[in-house]
Amino acid sequence: MNETAPRSGHRLDELTFSNSFATLPPAHYTTLMPTPLPKPYLVAASASAAALIGLDFSETQTENFVETLTGNRVPAGAKPLSAVYSGHQFGVWAGQLGDGRAILLGDVPAANAPTCRFELQLKGSGLTPYSRMGDGRAVLRSSIREFLCSEAMAALGIPTTRALCVTGSDQLVMREQPETSAVATRMAPSFVRFGSFEHWFYNEKHDELKTLADYVIDHFYPQLRDTENPYKAMLTEVTLRTAQLMAQWQSVGFMHGVMNTDNMSILGLTLDYGPFGFMEAFNAHHICNHTDQQGRYSYARQPQIGEWNCYALGQALLPLIGSVEETQAALRIYKPAFSEKFMALMRAKLGLTTDLTEDGKLLDDLFGILQESHVDFTTFFRRLADLQPGNTASSEPLRDLFIDRAAFDGWALQYGARLQQENSDDATRKLAMNAVNPKYVLRNYLAQIAIEKAQNKDFSEIARLLQILERPFDEQPVNEHYAALPPDWANELEVSCSS
Ligand code: AMP
Ligand code: MG
Repeated sequence: MNETAPRSGHRLDELTFSNSFATLPPAHYTTLMPTPLPKPYLVAASASAAALIGLDFSETQTENFVETLTGNRVPAGAKPLSAVYSGHQFGVWAGQLGDGRAILLGDVPAANAPTCRFELQLKGSGLTPYSRMGDGRAVLRSSIREFLCSEAMAALGIPTTRALCVTGSDQLVMREQPETSAVATRMAPSFVRFGSFEHWFYNEKHDELKTLADYVIDHFYPQLRDTENPYKAMLTEVTLRTAQLMAQWQSVGFMHGVMNTDNMSILGLTLDYGPFGFMEAFNAHHICNHTDQQGRYSYARQPQIGEWNCYALGQALLPLIGSVEETQAALRIYKPAFSEKFMALMRAKLGLTTDLTEDGKLLDDLFGILQESHVDFTTFFRRLADLQPGNTASSEPLRDLFIDRAAFDGWALQYGARLQQENSDDATRKLAMNAVNPKYVLRNYLAQIAIEKAQNKDFSEIARLLQILERPFDEQPVNEHYAALPPDWANELEVSCSS
């Protein structure tokens, strides 16, 4: 760090904390202090997340920052609390859950939008009344995964909670084996979940349900306040955002792994990174969460589970919306919204600028051959930009990805004809495709390498990966190997709910 560099943002102490969630009645949360961790150290910090709240990045190197974002020191104006919520887990009503290891410090102003605020939440900051059987802690490996993926998703242009930093401590916690603890600081305008509403519905506390809905509308959907039925309008908007989010996940091959209703954001953000993964060798039925034996949350099922979750939210909002018909009317937007967004994203990935009904078949056939040959999802779309219809050599690197070359040739003919139909210009198309098909995604094995180094106190690989993933669409010649196909040992990697 250059000591003489001029500061371009605030010191941590200059951020004005308040806590809008704490204006809700006390039944919605428990105020409490984070449990300190001994001798915390900085593991990673995100400059772009810091910029969102106007925090000077050099602050992240200070002792005050590390102590505060570990929960050892509470900023003035913050009112730490853990929120209560419930949820459906793996399709089954699980009753009360809540922030079992997360503490909301409060909210601070957004740098470039004076009326917006970001909540700062510490994940892994100690026991709460909602910890159930857990210890209130998070381990280093899962905190690094959440940190890297939050920032990678943001760079891909996908709505997500953000990650400001990860701090660590040598204090051990027990998982399958002892591991060191860490705290991940997340940022979002709100961490309210579908399950926050289900909580009040299933407890038959309709007044609290209304209070929460009014809070969310007034703070995050103010434009809906004066509509005829603001609760229906909110359900419609959340359903729309969720459908679009699912389309975005599918388009980059992101798999969440635990799409329980308590992990679904009322703002349509990707929330709660656990056993997530990015699709590598394509298999529509891939299950990224080792704990999900039934494959409820497989890649192919994400869109329908997104809808299922919206129905669970609709059920919870029914007393406010007033009728089953109105509730169903709001939910009906899901399917068309998903299809429209998905097709728009996939057309862009294919470099198509016009919209034809037969594109559905082109896409189905593509997924068919990707599945058949287990082609790496990210590599395929990136290389597709180099294909020039009529020039066989141009498609060789792409063709090499297929076991069934004849199947590829068949599809490439179809695709080439489609491009010619809209007089596609190869150079223009390539530029457009490279702006939407990432070259770099957070492959499990890349995260694993960074984690193993971090477990030996070398945090440099996290910073390096973050830098690469912040520019996922750029050619980065020195980092070419980060776009490589996963090594064989990556097949052995398993991610589960243990975190
Ligand atoms: P997740 O599947 O990670 O979203 O977690 C489901 C619920 O378990 C949430 O209410 C979490 O806060 C809680 N939880 C997960 N891990 C722990 C832990 N180590 N200590 C306390 N609560 C936890
Ligand atoms: Mg969760």
